[in-house]
Amino acid sequence: KLYNEVQDLKGNIRVYCRIRPFLPGQSQKHTTIEFVGDEGELIVSNPLKQGKESRKLFKFNKVFGQATSQEEVFKDTQPLIRSVLDGYNVCIFAYGQTGSGKTYTMSGPGLSSKSDWGVNYRALHDLFHISQTRGSSIIYEIGVQMVEIYNEQVRDLLEKNANYCFLNLHTLGIWNTAQPNGLAVPDASMHSVNSMTDVLELMNIGLTNRATSATALNERSSRSHSVLSVHVRGTDLKTNTLLRGCLHLVDLAGSERVDRSEATGDRLKEAQHINKSLSALGDVISALAQKSQHVPYRNSKLTQLLQSSLGGQAKTLMFVQLNPDVASYSETISTLKFAERVS
Ligand code: ADP
Ligand code: MG
Repeated sequence: KLYNEVQDLKGNIRVYCRIRPFLPGQSQKHTTIEFVGDEGELIVSNPLKQGKESRKLFKFNKVFGQATSQEEVFKDTQPLIRSVLDGYNVCIFAYGQTGSGKTYTMSGPGLSSKSDWGVNYRALHDLFHISQTRGSSIIYEIGVQMVEIYNEQVRDLLEKNANYCFLNLHTLGIWNTAQPNGLAVPDASMHSVNSMTDVLELMNIGLTNRATSATALNERSSRSHSVLSVHVRGTDLKTNTLLRGCLHLVDLAGSERVDRSEATGDRLKEAQHINKSLSALGDVISALAQKSQHVPYRNSKLTQLLQSSLGGQAKTLMFVQLNPDVASYSETISTLKFAERVS
């Protein structure tokens, strides 16, 4: 194995917490973040409610404080990504309420500046770089897919000429058809990529497709999951063997709870679908963490889609995203409770 550091990771599920900074204009007086430790400790409290009982301690594999750069976050993510070239399936996802920095971590604030690139772009850049300079007899091919899951419907975001292609439950069955190495391939268009130029071009199509159906992009994107799947196939010319790995990069829908007394119609339906899929994801990961016999993959489209990269030999990384503002305190606690459940 090329990247031994991956072997050193404890277990196959890691949980990192990232706290986004206060935004310009936001008052920093009332932060809920009391302490960030080097060993992954986090203490949160509610500054508006004094008293010891409001302080809570959590422990992660790592906590990234507000000043952490995209590059630093990637440094601790890179080993997982590189293990895809060794044939592992990897799933990385960002969980948190809307505005907590999920998209920032996964994609970045925009594509213009490389230093702002999030995990997605850095991962692809790294895969190209390593696969082209590895200096072995293995020839790598990389293909990407991008889908959105909204109200338990899956859409292909890279179908250029379309109002997107809806993938129904029937075709979803095909996704779980085991490939020779046990890898499931989503039934969405696959685009072969050779450079970051190819990737950026595709991402633009994906983002445009995401935007065209939405009356307000932010609104819609916060209520759907977007999944970027990177498939790597390596052919060893010497031994004439094939190696496959898959990386799922997931920007989840906002985890905020919706007030049932206020939400009606479409909004309520969306909220119910989000609840269902996020708790299905939590159930799967917690079953895996507890090494349970039965892992309930079939309860949502999200977990069906990610099945090949959750469990078994696959490696999973969850970014738990936090907004430090006191107004977010109760959502912060509920996000942290979700994280506790799966770790
Ligand atoms: P989400 O996707 O969870 O709804 P975003 O990623 O859109 O949240 O982040 C909300 C806002 O905070 C955006 O304006 C984003 O640019 C900013 N932001 C998030 N994380 C960071 C960070 N680590 N550093 C600087 N700005 C951030
Ligand atoms: Mg977002």
